[in-house]
Parts: sequence; structure tokens; C-alpha cells
Amino acid sequence: MHRIVLIGPPASGKGTQCRRLQNLLNLPTLGTGKLLRKEVELGTQLGLEVESYLSSGAYVPDALIMELVKNWMARHSESGWLLDGFPRTLAQAEALEVDVSFQAPTLAIALEVPQHELEQRIASRRECADCGATVSVGPSNEKNCKECGGLLESRADDDLENFRRRFANYSELTQPLFDYYAANGKLLTINGSGTSDEVFAVINNHFHPSG
Ligand SMILES: [Zn+2]
Repeated sequence: MHRIVLIGPPASGKGTQCRRLQNLLNLPTLGTGKLLRKEVELGTQLGLEVESYLSSGAYVPDALIMELVKNWMARHSESGWLLDGFPRTLAQAEALEVDVSFQAPTLAIALEVPQHELEQRIASRRECADCGATVSVGPSNEKNCKECGGLLESRADDDLENFRRRFANYSELTQPLFDYYAANGKLLTINGSGTSDEVFAVINNHFHPSG
């Protein structure tokens, strides 16, 4: 049974690889952001608590997130699962291993992309002022949207600042998981520098070796 944790920095393409892996292995997938929103929608007691944090712009406390993950895992204990962006901290990873109300992962897939390359991705992002499409511009630095001809606008300064904040947070809190899972013999490191297809080919090959 597969119980997989997917780790990667912001802008590493983790979300895309997660969807592709989900399709490949047909596993229920937990993203904590989505889980929090769903709980709010359902209007449960926990949901009301979550909403009070989200609406005030505060971080949802770890204990609350752990409670939600625990409930989710209990519902999916027979099928295996895929976790997107969780655990985010060493304390959370340790809880999955040792606390019997959780399940331990069988594999941790870590996407590695150098920081300068991630920043390059952010800097080349544009948003169409007309249709809202997000595109990545090439070296020719095109000015108009391929879909509608609208003007492409950059939010690179805001986005870079936001990225650096999230990346620093990731380096401090999540990077230690690499060593933790390596020590447990569960770490699969993937070079995330290529195209989405190239990266997924390596992941796919792990599950379905081609030769
Ligand atoms: Zn457009």
C-alpha cells in the first residue's frame, strides 16, 4: 500500500506533480489548504474554529490542523494516501511516525529545485490583464497574451517578495524533513529542475520501472 508524502519548495511544481501522481496511483489526496476550506464549508465545530483564524488572517494552529489530518486519515486508512504539503514541520512528521492515531508514510518524495531557478520562474510569470491567464514568458519577453491578445502584466516584485518569505519558511521548517526521511530510509529525492513531463517521468519510473 502506498502512503506517500510529497515535499517541495514554493514554485517547485509540487501541485502539478501531485495531481499527476494522484492520477497514476489513484490515491485519495490530502492538501491541508483544501481540507481547511472543506471543514469550513461543512460548518463543523472544527470548521467554525478554523474560520475564526482564517477570517482574521491568523495562522491556523498546528494542533487544529493535526486534528483534521487525524480525522481524514482515519477515513482513508484502508486505501493508502498521498499528502500534498503535509507534514510541513519535523514535529508533524514525527507525529505521523510515532502517534498511533496517525499512519506513517511508506515513502517521502522530495522535489529539489535550486532557489535561483525558482526565482527565475517567479520573475518570468505574467498575468493577462484581459482574460486573467497566468503564463510564463520566454527570453523574447512577449508582451501580449497568446489566447486573447491582452496585455501581459508582471507582479514580479510582489511575487518575489512573497516567494522569498515562503521559501525562508520552507528552508527553516520543512527542509529538515529531508534528513529525517533519509534516516528512516523513506526518502526519494527528485530533481525538479526540468519540465513537468521530465520530472514526472522520473517519478513514474520509480513506480513503473521501464527496464
Ligand atoms: Zn488573455
